[in-house]
Parts: sequence; C-alpha cells; structure tokens
Amino acid sequence: MSDLFYKNENGWKTNKTSKDEIFAFCDGYKDFLNCAKTEREFAALAEKTAKENGFVSLWETKSLKPGDRVYAVNRGKGIMLAVIGTQPLHRGINLIGAHIDSPRLDLKPMPLYEDSEMAFFKTHYYGGIKKYQWVAIPLALHGVIVRKTGEKVSINIGEDENDPVFCISDLLVHLAQEQMTKNAKEVVEGEALNLIVGGRPLEGEEKDAVKANVLKLLADKYGVEEEDFLSAELEIVPAGKARDMGFDRSMILAYGHDDRVCAYPSMMAVLDYEGTPEYTLCCIVTDKEEIGSVGATGMASHYLENTVAELYACTADYCELAVRRCLRNSRMLSSDVSAGYDPNFASAFEKKNSAFLGRGICFNKFTGSRGKSGSNDANPEFMASLRKIMDDAGVAFQTAELGRVDLGGGGTIAYLCAKYGMNVIDSGIPVLSMHAPYEVISKVDLYEGYRGYCAFLQGAKPVE
Ligand code: MN
Ligand code: MN
Repeated sequence: MSDLFYKNENGWKTNKTSKDEIFAFCDGYKDFLNCAKTEREFAALAEKTAKENGFVSLWETKSLKPGDRVYAVNRGKGIMLAVIGTQPLHRGINLIGAHIDSPRLDLKPMPLYEDSEMAFFKTHYYGGIKKYQWVAIPLALHGVIVRKTGEKVSINIGEDENDPVFCISDLLVHLAQEQMTKNAKEVVEGEALNLIVGGRPLEGEEKDAVKANVLKLLADKYGVEEEDFLSAELEIVPAGKARDMGFDRSMILAYGHDDRVCAYPSMMAVLDYEGTPEYTLCCIVTDKEEIGSVGATGMASHYLENTVAELYACTADYCELAVRRCLRNSRMLSSDVSAGYDPNFASAFEKKNSAFLGRGICFNKFTGSRGKSGSNDANPEFMASLRKIMDDAGVAFQTAELGRVDLGGGGTIAYLCAKYGMNVIDSGIPVLSMHAPYEVISKVDLYEGYRGYCAFLQGAKPVE
C-alpha cells in the first residue's frame, strides 16, 4: 500500500494498553451505568464521585486558584466539573460536553387508570424511539414524586432482582394479521404505550378495585396518594443491568449508552486529572438533548455561560467582556455517540465515511440533515490541532458522518456552544442500535474515548 494512503486500523490491534486494563475501565462504566439510568441519577452519582475526588461545590466557593477542583450541579439534572488552570480564564477553557438524558417513556401527569380489572400507567414517550421496540420487555420505574410540602420521594422499582418489573403488552401474533401489514410507525401507537402495573383487586372495594389496591400499596410504601402524581417525574426505562456481549466480551449491551458512554469517560477524564493544568479544564453534562436541549437544564439554557461567569468571578475581578472572551477562546469536544456501521443495514451507510466499532473515538466534522442543515461544521484548523493531540497520545480515532446523505440525520449540543464563537467538534463512541432499549458499544472505543478526552483536556490550546 502506498505510504500516502490513510491507514485506519482496528483499535484492538494498535492499542498498547492491556486487555485487562481496558476491561477494568469498562467494568467501572457498567457499574456507573447500572446506578445512573436517568439524568437525575447520573447527576447525583457524579456529584458524589466528584466529592470523593476532592471537588468542592462552586456555590460554596468565593475564590479559586490554579489547581482547585470545583463542581456545580444544575437543578439536579446536570453537572459541571472544573480544574482551574494557570492561564487566565479569558484565554479559554478546554471543555468537554455530553448529555445524560436518554430516550425513554415518561408517565403522563395523571397516569393511573383501571381497565378490564388491570391497572395501567399512561405514558408519553421522550426522545426519538421506535415505539414497537418498547413492548413485551421488562421495564423499571425511576424518578421522584414531590409532595405539596416540598418533600421528595425517590422511586426505583425493577432493578433489584427481588423487585417486580413492569411491561407493556403486545398483540399476539395469532391475531396480528392486520397489525403486521401496518407501517412500523403505527404498529404500536403512542396512546397504546400503557404500562401494566397491577392485577389484584383491593378487598372490600367495588369500583376500580385494582387501581385502589395499587394506590394502597403506594400509600403504604411511599406515603403518596393519586394527586401527588401531579408533581412527579417518573421515567420508564428497560429493567436490568449492562452486560458484556460476545464470546470475547469485547462489547457492552446496555440501555442508555447514548450518551452516557461519552458522559462517563468525559467526566472521568476530569476527575482523574492530577495536578494543575495550563488551561482550565472542564466537563459539562446536560439534560434534554434528546428533545432539542430545551428548558432550564438543557444546553440551550444559559447554564454554561452563567457558570463560566461564576468561575470567572472566583478567579479575578468580574468583567463581562472577559467572560465573553473566555467562551469565544474555548475549545470544545461535543462528546456524543456516532452511528456505528451496521453490516445488517449496510445501505443506510456510506462505508468510507462511517464509524466502525473497534476503531476508536470518532470525530464528526459535521452533523445535520440534507445539506448539513442544523449542523455544527468544525473548522479544519481545529481538526488539525486535534489530529496532532490524538496522534501524539497514540489514541485510536476515526472520522465519520451520520449515515448516507439524504437518508436522515441528527444533531447534538455542538451548535449551541458554537454560538459563543468557540471551536467545537462532535466526538464520541460509535453505537449500534442507537435509541433502542438496548444499545451496543465496543469496549476499546470507550477506553480510547477516555484516553482521547484526557489528551484533549491536557493538550488543547487556543486555535484561530
Ligand atoms: Mn446523543
Ligand atoms: Mn440520542
């Protein structure tokens, strides 16, 4: 092969790290994933882990000096972690951003009803899902119910092996002749995603006795009544743990890789950093990406800008212009999953510009749909600096775009941060079956992602 050809090899072959080290990092990820299936659970566990690693709350800090480690939680659904550098903040920060919400089914505000002596919860799906994938699988219920007094009740049912699980029924194949001819979008309709939660009537109750029994159980265990659902946020996710996949255990099958498989190594790259960096390094994990990054906990809010302003005020006399310069001069990896090339659906991809499982962290210069609509298109000057950082650190990386042109597309949080004028590029771990109840990633890609994020945080500098 000509020396001029670009060679892109399998990460398992080029990796200098032992298989045991890669697997050990992935075990940490699986443990985290099993305890953090929702954005609230991720943010809470990240805060706990940050504290254990010497990070203190930014809201309890008045001044910061190089080497200081701080975190800031955003309404329990996002968190920013930072290690202060020796360079003044207006020279910009080395920032990694990921999202910690995943597609799922949310409960409607008034969810509980009885039909045909069974009790159900009505749901409203969150994010882009194939609805037919969410029936006839074990489901768990996670979230909070907030009483009128402000007291919060945490719910997590279906993960412990002694817990019950829940399920949405599907039509038996014997009677599915009509259903099987339907368009996939209509095979299971949104209003049919009703979760079965009970089947035993309450003794002595005449009307809606099964619903009454469910309410009695909830009252006994959690001290809540039906009206308390009005101030609840309950999410239905696939029940069960992340599992090794394949004879060689080279992959992980789990719910919610998108985007925890990027959020976890991004966070760990900051937590594991020791010493004092040149430029302030920072990881932000955010909510609501799957529905357009909207709301106070989504990336479209002013949370990043406000928190950077708070950081600035702790390091120097506050100056709005300096905060703007900080954001403008920053370097960011928008750390989100890529569509892994799937030979079973080869026609959806263009092979030369696809992300392959096992070839390491993937950079997406641009995303978007049709003529790159909705894209963040990163500058080649920035990409060149990243090639050098990755090559110097021996990180396996690849580049891709999201599938075949004209077929679909998607976006991330990149364009929202690019608003400030900072250099941003999408980078992340390739995933198979993205947004399905169970998604697949390769362990070597996760590990190379972690190494790539570490190299970026330590090595990135301002790029014009
Ligand atoms: Mn994502
Ligand atoms: Mn997604």
